[in-house]
Amino acid sequence: MNRIDNRQNDELRNVKITRNYLMHPDGSVLIEVGNTKVICTAMVEERVPPFLKGTGKGWVSAEYSMLPGSTITRKSRDINKLKIDGRSQEIQRLIGRSLRSVVDLGVIGERTIWIDCDVIQADGGTRTASITGAFVAMADAFKGLIDKKMIEKMPIKAFVSAVSVGLSGGEKILDLCYEEDSAADVDMNIVMTNKGEFVEVQGSGEEATFSQGEFMDLVSLATSGCQKLYNIQREALGEEISGEIGK
Ligand code: UDP
Repeated sequence: MNRIDNRQNDELRNVKITRNYLMHPDGSVLIEVGNTKVICTAMVEERVPPFLKGTGKGWVSAEYSMLPGSTITRKSRDINKLKIDGRSQEIQRLIGRSLRSVVDLGVIGERTIWIDCDVIQADGGTRTASITGAFVAMADAFKGLIDKKMIEKMPIKAFVSAVSVGLSGGEKILDLCYEEDSAADVDMNIVMTNKGEFVEVQGSGEEATFSQGEFMDLVSLATSGCQKLYNIQREALGEEISGEIGK
């Protein structure tokens, strides 16, 4: 099958992670996955939600948004509505769960790491790019806390990254762009650790049902994609920080 951008079915788009993208946050990256661009920031707040007060444990919370000019038709700002739309809510909860799954919340003490993922250009896979990029921003924020001697060690137990896979005209494809995503019969988002373990699997056959065999093949395709993303994250963070993760 000829893909829109001539990629092989098992090929990721070009991924670029620019660290320290912004001046104020404790960690910040611009992640570019093909034409999808997301700014991910991590900022530390010295308090926790009420349910964690007195427990000695911290929290990681995420918010997600798309800029009005990030999409083909203008995306209205949340401020114009009474509350954020369901899709953004679902995505930000997914980002939060994904990052928390690899953090030892007991190590970070009673503080919250706020993750903000702001899509500045959307071309499919914004939630997966957000997770992959936010992971790097979060690792930088934790390194800052270690350097300031506010925490004793790197609380991250494993790398986490995410990718989309889909079934389109009988072909299994990795990392769908918008045009592919909107034409796909089956669309899945998979979040994995570098140890090959699953954090979350979201899959839907919107236009068709899919078999167990197809499901397994899509999972294998995503596994290879996440492994490549892990290597890109590792390279972006450098050995000084990467070497501390999962120790
Ligand atoms: N999209 C859009 N406007 C929206 C929601 C989505 O233009 O309000 C486009 C955008 O390119 C996005 C793609 O549709 O990346 C796929 O959206 P989906 O909800 O599947 O999430 P994503 O793949 O971005 O995680």
